[in-house]
Amino acid sequence: MSIINSFSDRRDLPGNPDIVLPRHRICIFVHGCFWHLHRNCKDARIPKTRAIWWSKKLEGNVARDKRHAAALRRLGWRVITIWECQTEKPERLVSRLQKLPASKPLV
Ligand SMILES: [Zn+2]
Repeated sequence: MSIINSFSDRRDLPGNPDIVLPRHRICIFVHGCFWHLHRNCKDARIPKTRAIWWSKKLEGNVARDKRHAAALRRLGWRVITIWECQTEKPERLVSRLQKLPASKPLV
């Protein structure tokens, strides 16, 4: 069975991960750089108009992401974040995912 065949829809998990690989106990989030404030990314700038409002909103998203990732790790899941800007160069993204330490399938 390939890793992709083990996709699962797990709406019960904290943060509602975009991709769940239950056999490998991996949760993947695909985050928009702007909405989740990708650090040091050109796409993650706080708008100049209503800057305080935007700052509060986006920092709130980041704090929520951290809480969800921590909750998933406590439940024994590995959490991987893929940023929107990384999908612009799929070959680099694939290479990054291939370098992840292999985990033994659970089932
Ligand atoms: Zn980015």
